[in-house]
Amino acid sequence: MIPVAEPDLNGNELAYVKDCVKSGWISSAGGYIKKFEDKFAEYCQVKYATSTSNGTTALHLALSALGIKEGDEVIMPNLTFIATANTVRYCGATPVFIDIDEKTWNIDPSKIEEKITDKTKAIIPVHLYGNPCDMDAIIRIAKKHNLLIIEDCAEATGAEYKDKKVGSFGDIACFSFYGNKIITTGEGGMCVTNSKELIDKMNLFKNHGMNPKKRYWHDVIGFNYRMTNIQAAIGLAQLERIEEFIKIRRQNASFYNSLLRNIKGIQIPIEKEGTKNVYWMYCIVLEENANFSNRDELMNELEKQGIDSRPFFYTMSKMPPYMSNETIPVSEKVSSKGINLPSSTRLTQEEIAKIAKAIKIIQQ
Ligand SMILES: *Cc1c(COP(=O)(O)O)cnc(C)c1O
Repeated sequence: MIPVAEPDLNGNELAYVKDCVKSGWISSAGGYIKKFEDKFAEYCQVKYATSTSNGTTALHLALSALGIKEGDEVIMPNLTFIATANTVRYCGATPVFIDIDEKTWNIDPSKIEEKITDKTKAIIPVHLYGNPCDMDAIIRIAKKHNLLIIEDCAEATGAEYKDKKVGSFGDIACFSFYGNKIITTGEGGMCVTNSKELIDKMNLFKNHGMNPKKRYWHDVIGFNYRMTNIQAAIGLAQLERIEEFIKIRRQNASFYNSLLRNIKGIQIPIEKEGTKNVYWMYCIVLEENANFSNRDELMNELEKQGIDSRPFFYTMSKMPPYMSNETIPVSEKVSSKGINLPSSTRLTQEEIAKIAKAIKIIQQ
């Protein structure tokens, strides 16, 4: 099977992990943690970064540090991974789902304001599948209504909007280093910010709320959301190669584009002017009224030919925890017609050509 995703651990990962094991620093103290955080902050063009045990805990930590609480409403796209919504619920707040743009598949800024109430506290733009959101429009709305911005960059490490890295726009931005993400630490995450106050709060909260000057004294109820030195060692080695990873992903996407562009009945990803898409997942969306619009049938055909794929995320508003009667039309359509194709950095040109050829079945 050609996999959808596959980590590339052929840099200094093993050497750094060996170093952790040999030195005994395998828990959440040790030199790799600060090194990884500092390098990551520098890479994202922000002042501060704090590592976490995964991307979900990064989001919960950020929302907690920003004081999101029961009774608050938090705006987010209806098409995202479930963790974006769940972490808002962990705070006792209510996620409010916004429709997406038909072309970028990201939150549609023109549909945000109609959902703002006096309970709205924050917006979580999600840079879906590696494609940056329209940050100018989102920032304009947030300023006008005095809302916080938490960027969900879990799928978009290294992506850019107007020459600035994603993660540098929000009050806090959150990243994931799960095994299939742009860089991985196995499980892992990061929160970045330019605010000294917020980084101090996040460092406090992620370490049981323990007063940094008074051991075993706890002023607040915190969490244990720390990353281990072993994870950070892998992360540092991955970060050393991120430019190479992104270059390969972009080359693969442009090769896919050249082969799929002229196939009738499918939509391919776009990269808006002034943005840099990192193509965490290379995606296609079957057009509704095309001759061949049965997504699952196409995925079965790909599987028969040894090609793995994934359906797009289900929309939040149609799953049991967040079920609503409201129709959020674009997100529902795209969600039911979208496919993630093999997107790993280890994909070869021959494999991409084979996948494109298999997709041509829809023209018959
Ligand atoms: C992966 C992901 C997360 C959660 O990250 P984990 O490290 O798996 O906890 C959150 N949001 C989005 C959009 C993701 O893709």
